[in-house]
Amino acid sequence: MNYLTNFMPMKDRGLIFDIRRYAVHDGPGIRTTVFFKGCPLHCLWCHNPEGITPGIQKAVRQRKLNGRSYSYEEEIGRWLSSAQVMEELLKDQLFYEESGGGVTFSGGEPLSQSAFLLKMLSETRRFGLHTAVDTSGFADADIFQAVASLTHCLLFDLKTTDQDKHMEYTGVDTEQIVNNLKSLPPDGPDLFVRIPVIPGINASVGEMMAIGQLLCTLDARVKRVDLLPYHRLGRQKYACLGQKYPGDFGQLCGHDMKEFEKVFTNAGFAVKTGG
Ligand code: SF4
Repeated sequence: MNYLTNFMPMKDRGLIFDIRRYAVHDGPGIRTTVFFKGCPLHCLWCHNPEGITPGIQKAVRQRKLNGRSYSYEEEIGRWLSSAQVMEELLKDQLFYEESGGGVTFSGGEPLSQSAFLLKMLSETRRFGLHTAVDTSGFADADIFQAVASLTHCLLFDLKTTDQDKHMEYTGVDTEQIVNNLKSLPPDGPDLFVRIPVIPGINASVGEMMAIGQLLCTLDARVKRVDLLPYHRLGRQKYACLGQKYPGDFGQLCGHDMKEFEKVFTNAGFAVKTGG
């Protein structure tokens, strides 16, 4: 399918809440990551809460000056054109080339601004940049497939295969996510499956085995499984947004993480913990 003519009009404006250069955990090599605002999920462990609301928000920040503390307001989210984003992305083209890196579109959920994401993917392709899309996979099938056909790499966040838990802790069910994952063809983008490991939710060998079994049924090439241990680094962000921290899930045990790694290595997958 030639999505450029058949899919949808491409929007030349996206709501972006951050562009981070020199990222080393968002796909291969050194990358620049563009964070799209808006996500249909509400994961209770989300460490990017400023990415969830699909509109510009105010955050209250603190700053120290001459020993005194001041608070000031900052707007989270800017409308940027593809040309403005490209200008930022092209600044580090040399680093991408030397490190085997490129550009990552993350969020929030970048597929929630699908028209702008498709526009950015076609622009980055035009300049020969390697692209990765970091997604929850929760999107209409035609949008998901259009994005998958244009990106080199998908960072697919998979939380649990348990329908009830998924609904309870993220606000959406797994059906669309699993169907999209299963729709990826063997000659599609490189697939990195990213599993946030959350104590009390999915931090068990049984949960990891259920995810491993799902991965074994895929046609797609799974390049690696990334286990992302739960952390509380987003806590301060909730406070700045005037929101209650939705949950504290406690500590993960290093021994358990090794057991989870084994589940995937025994099934023949490359595994990385952290990042
Ligand atoms: S899918 Fe990602 S961005 Fe969206 S709520 Fe969950 S953790 Fe946050």
